[in-house]
Amino acid sequence: MNLFESVGRLGHEQVVFFHHAESGLRCIIAIHSTRLGPAFGGLRMWPYVSEDDAVRDVLKHSRGMTYKAAIAGLDLGGAKAVLIGNPETDKSEALFRALGRFIHSLGGRYIACEDVGTSSDDMELIRLETPYVVGVPEVNGGSGDPSRFTALGTLHGIRACLEFKYGHADLQRVSFAVQGAGQVGYHLVKLLRAHGAKVFVTDIAEDRVEQVVDEFGAEAVPMSQIYDVEATVFSPCALGAVINEDTLPRLRCEIVAGGANNQLESDELGTELERRGILYAPDYAINAGGLMSSALELQGYSVARAERRVARIHGIIARILELASEEKIPTWQAAQKLAEARLASISQTKLPFVAGSTSRAV
Ligand code: NAD
Repeated sequence: MNLFESVGRLGHEQVVFFHHAESGLRCIIAIHSTRLGPAFGGLRMWPYVSEDDAVRDVLKHSRGMTYKAAIAGLDLGGAKAVLIGNPETDKSEALFRALGRFIHSLGGRYIACEDVGTSSDDMELIRLETPYVVGVPEVNGGSGDPSRFTALGTLHGIRACLEFKYGHADLQRVSFAVQGAGQVGYHLVKLLRAHGAKVFVTDIAEDRVEQVVDEFGAEAVPMSQIYDVEATVFSPCALGAVINEDTLPRLRCEIVAGGANNQLESDELGTELERRGILYAPDYAINAGGLMSSALELQGYSVARAERRVARIHGIIARILELASEEKIPTWQAAQKLAEARLASISQTKLPFVAGSTSRAV
């Protein structure tokens, strides 16, 4: 792949390759933007088939983080890191400590957190070498598992969608089809049921479905039928690209609002949802609760502060829906416009981020 061409097209500031022979570390950190503050992003560990795949992944996801932090109103930039290796067999203390020293050498330009293939235990090893990491366990003063806050933020966003479409946010009067009962799905079903909503749920893992059926009284649906369920809200909480040309015509819902990343296979499908009268809550805005909570570790964490911050998602989604309606544009475009407007206006009022300075770490 032509790296400089890709980096130029996507607008990255810096891509760093780290290698440490003794521990076997091979890591790429892509800093997309520090215009709003230090670049924040998950550290993914994955046995990439090729180095090109690893580079493509890190470039794509780091750009998305810039938009997510911007729309969430955080003073953070966007980044992503990928560690090439098998999370089942290749982890060691030496590996994460070497990575921690490399992250430290960036002077705070990149702040790591857990992602696919890494855990809060790994973040603790990194923390031994650098303060530029969040997501350490709660017992050690960290914010712990972010998924509860991702689900809480999703609920706030769902309420904004209901108010916009029906003029009320009474969950007892609406129903949900939740795809995925993993960490986010579990907490979302719990919240929805606690507010009296009717919830249909599915997951590849039968034990996860059984758990939410037994604990919260959700109704199980076969995996292949979740798109056909006649529910007010379809809530993707499992995989990306679940709204695609095959699934979109099957949807019987009036709103798509869930915690999963990259729900639309392409932006055009967001436009098509709009055309069919289905309200789409842009995924990176509605699922920013986990990010909002984890980032508070940089300032001093408390659950009350996290809950207060995550509640902002209601207003963020409401603003996106209003702008889309005012300008007659699809909601995905309205979210992009708002994120870009904030990036442009706030970054003009700030001094450039200087590595080693903590004054702008939010
Ligand atoms: P998870 O791995 O805990 O849960 C995902 C669940 O989806 C699993 O139970 C899995 O069995 C199920 N699943 C996989 N394929 C499926 C399919 N085809 N149909 C139905 N179920 C299927 O992951 P998670 O942390 O709950 O994350 C879920 C989604 O939310 C992901 O897209 C993730 O990127 C996104 N997200 C998570 C967070 C967070 O705080 N964890 C934050 C932002 C976004």
